[in-house]
Amino acid sequence: AYVITEACIGTKNTACVAVCPVDCIYDAGDQYVINPEECIDCSMCMPQCPVEAIYPGDQVPDDLRHYAKKAADLDYSK
Ligand code: SF4
Repeated sequence: AYVITEACIGTKNTACVAVCPVDCIYDAGDQYVINPEECIDCSMCMPQCPVEAIYPGDQVPDDLRHYAKKAADLDYSK
């Protein structure tokens, strides 16, 4: 799954939300997050982000890896 990282905090541009074909990008308060259970790895969101906060899951820089865990640990049922 794609991962939204640090740069989203304080930005929260919604361009990614608008293009996601499966609506798997959610407002998590301080940032938008991608539900890894729903993301189909289409890559549509990544070039839309004005602050380059989005990475493919296997290309997240080490210092931002915890954002993948943050997204995975969120409760999306509410
Ligand atoms: Fe949505 Fe595609 Fe981005 Fe996954 S990669 S969050 S499916 S736009």
